[in-house]
Amino acid sequence: MIDFKKLAQEYGTPLYVYDFDYMTQQYEELKEAFRGRKSIIAYAVKANSNLSVVRHFAKMGSGADCVSIGEVRRAFLAGIPAYKIIFSGVGKSDDEIREAIERDILYINVESEAELDRVELIAKELGKVSRISVRVNPNIDPKTHPYISTGLHDNKFGVDLDSAKRMYIRANNSKHLDPVGIHFHIGSQLTELDPIREASEIVADLVRSLQAVDIELKFFDIGGGLGIKYDNEITIKPYDYAQAILGTLTALDMTILCEPGRFLTANAGYFITKVLYEKQNGVKRFVVVDGAMNDLLRPSLYNAYHEIEAITESEGALREADIVGPVCESGDFFAKDYKLPPLKHNDLLVIKSAGAYGFGMGSNYNTRGRSAEVAVEGGEARLIRKRESFDDLIALEKEFLEN
Ligand SMILES: *Cc1c(COP(=O)(O)O)cnc(C)c1O
Repeated sequence: MIDFKKLAQEYGTPLYVYDFDYMTQQYEELKEAFRGRKSIIAYAVKANSNLSVVRHFAKMGSGADCVSIGEVRRAFLAGIPAYKIIFSGVGKSDDEIREAIERDILYINVESEAELDRVELIAKELGKVSRISVRVNPNIDPKTHPYISTGLHDNKFGVDLDSAKRMYIRANNSKHLDPVGIHFHIGSQLTELDPIREASEIVADLVRSLQAVDIELKFFDIGGGLGIKYDNEITIKPYDYAQAILGTLTALDMTILCEPGRFLTANAGYFITKVLYEKQNGVKRFVVVDGAMNDLLRPSLYNAYHEIEAITESEGALREADIVGPVCESGDFFAKDYKLPPLKHNDLLVIKSAGAYGFGMGSNYNTRGRSAEVAVEGGEARLIRKRESFDDLIALEKEFLEN
């Protein structure tokens, strides 16, 4: 058990705490599920991009799935080898494409025909060959929240099957492109296997039809999206997930590339916030805490549920309360009508499942410095990011002040 009270005393609040041993466990379970096949687990850096987190995965042999050149640089800094790094995303700038080619990463995941043109042109300018994969949009409803659903034609991601085929034929005929992979990612927080199996089948069929025209791809990139338990979701077991996908790959000798983010880090993370006070507006009870939407945006953005535990000495009946932060927005809340005991100044709330899309979606709104981050591994805690100071926040503006 992690002693949150002690950590709050030592590092202050609000505070992110990550259980690195839990991350290890998740990584190993998923890796094990694909045994018997060549596979690369490429951690989706955007889920939690702290350098120490990425290094933790690097040490286990993980690759990295990156969605900006900044993330690619983080992956390199953290020690992930170039041949396990991929670069995805619907809008890559020329500079980003250039750097990705120069760094010789495993492949660039191309998301449109226009982007394929840019990659080819830039590779040509550099006198290089760029390895690519195409992100296929299989038009499957993943049955998740619309904001994190990505595999339907009305989402901005990837290309349809016909365009994908055209792109592979073009890439195969180009001196500066080397098509090595195929990619799909239908959404996040997936809890149903059928849409994944269906998508995989569609993409595997495309691979077969490419083989028929002598285009041999090496990497079958199944994206990420494996859901986790926030509340009472029934999640997909890694073993069943792997079996469903492998079942669609009969007679295809390809390396599986899997890009989990949330699955590896979400339930390893805790956001610790301190109670400032309680207030009552008419019949409505509010618990005002020192953390806010700028620290953990998911409740405000997706109305996401996080389990919350109160650490308090006070006793009394549980009563419903809205847990709100100091930011000047009515959307600044962590939970609504959540049952909590009576709380006093300096009691703590532990907001769970905060290790993915937590810190990374943070901002400095209301001139609030971002929280510190702490890793717990083998029972030992260590700081992995300092709390942002006021000086940090104004560092890029100060010089422009005129008298
Ligand atoms: C966000 C993303 C992931 C990771 O998604 P999770 O739901 O966190 O597993 C993987 N691949 C791509 C292309 C992504 O955009």
